Amino acid sequence: MDSPLLKNLNGYIGGRWKDPGEDATFDVYNPATGEVIAKVPSMSEADVNAAVDAGSKALRLTQPYSLETRRGWLEGIRDTLLDNKEEVGRILCQEHGKPLKEAKGEVEYAAGFFDYCARHIQALDAHTIAEKPKDCTWTVHYRPIGVVGLITPWNFPIGMIAKKLSAALAAGCPSVIKPASETPLTMIAMFSLIDQHVDMPDGMVNLVMGKASMIGKVLCEHPEVPMLSFTGSTEVGRKLITDTADQVKKLALELGGNAPFIVFEDADLDAAATNLMGNKFRGGGQTCVCANRVFVHEKVADAFGKKLAEKVEAMKVGDGMNEDVDIGPLINKAGFDKVHRHVSDALEKGAELVAGPKPTDLSGKDLFYPPTVVTGVTRDMACFREETFGPLVPMALFRDDDEVIAAGNDTEFGLAAYLFTADPERAQRVAAALRFGHVGWNTGTGPTPEAPFGGMKASGIGREGGLEGLFEFVEPQTVPRGF
Ligand code: ADP
Repeated sequence: MDSPLLKNLNGYIGGRWKDPGEDATFDVYNPATGEVIAKVPSMSEADVNAAVDAGSKALRLTQPYSLETRRGWLEGIRDTLLDNKEEVGRILCQEHGKPLKEAKGEVEYAAGFFDYCARHIQALDAHTIAEKPKDCTWTVHYRPIGVVGLITPWNFPIGMIAKKLSAALAAGCPSVIKPASETPLTMIAMFSLIDQHVDMPDGMVNLVMGKASMIGKVLCEHPEVPMLSFTGSTEVGRKLITDTADQVKKLALELGGNAPFIVFEDADLDAAATNLMGNKFRGGGQTCVCANRVFVHEKVADAFGKKLAEKVEAMKVGDGMNEDVDIGPLINKAGFDKVHRHVSDALEKGAELVAGPKPTDLSGKDLFYPPTVVTGVTRDMACFREETFGPLVPMALFRDDDEVIAAGNDTEFGLAAYLFTADPERAQRVAAALRFGHVGWNTGTGPTPEAPFGGMKASGIGREGGLEGLFEFVEPQTVPRGF
């Protein structure tokens, strides 16, 4: 793929592009066309160690980088991302498949995290507490935790890194970044912009790519990496917990979701349907906050299903680079097969097709899965228990509030939930009962830089965004002064 931001298809260590040398490479595909668009080096264990060493050299404890310096880095990254959002968006669209408009929107979203941290960095200044317990004057400092490992998935190739990197830089933590192997190009593009336009000490940001298990192992075992921030599957999250237990490392984890989207009988059905469309089909349904189980009160189920079907059938599926496309391909064959399996399983177990093709009519020769709605979903179906991560809306009917609260919570996950009702009392009560870190009331909107986002239960540990996210990479240190 040709781009001024992809001249160096390589990792970045200690302020320099790594020499490609004899490294083995891996292929990056455009999921819309199936073409290989780049070959990227699969870096060695020595490279990952070198990246950690470079981070350690950039870490400053005794003479920390000032808040103004760190604010400058954040503003620099924000500005260069916004100045180059067209080109970064074009790269992102081609390696991920999401529509170009969404891809550019993701670059703006990413810039928003750097902007938020820059605007609120003062919160990390040391302060003296008002009381004088034990006859001492107590100062609280927010120290950088150290070199951090940041590991991200492919579904938001820049958004996910921005959430982590903005807070890490605000804290003064050098990082070793590992993007998903499906989407490393957007990250290379971001490093290319940082290299050219942002004045940061060598080693503050390092990029490694290649075999995930090896990179994960080095980051888990390296004594100079006290913290990992990971977004991805619960399976890998659990492995990181196990592999860091010996050294008691800090983990920030954003893992799987299984979001319920609840439409009560008093809801504005048009608003609910419109919001569900925006929520469900963003990124082709491949986000952890996408509605995964849609519970509709039985009195409004037919009316809601019709509204939804009309909207779904009007959607245009295709290559995200074409302007009129609403939904792109799935990321890979495994992603496509999972959606296919979930639709087939639901229909075999008695669900009805409301919109979209029968799975048996799909050739499976490409990665485009047409948006599909099924109704009559029950808890024994795979689409109820697992995250589909694709453009399937599975509708289940319910009769009363307690029943739907129990059904909504009937999952090990607790990331995002949505409820649509005109009754504020009901909304407050149901939101409080739903064990999810994010509960949209009459909105399908997902996270934003200004608010803390993260999961309850098996959906993770910690928060990204908001002041809570800003504090994730610091260690509060108290210095009581006796005299
Ligand atoms: P997904 O299903 O979204 O691909 P994964 O958890 O498999 O979720 O991947 C998320 C990120 O974690 C990717 O960057 C992937 O390469 C990385 N990853 C996968 N396995 C490991 C591992 N054993 N240790 C560390 N990172 C891993």
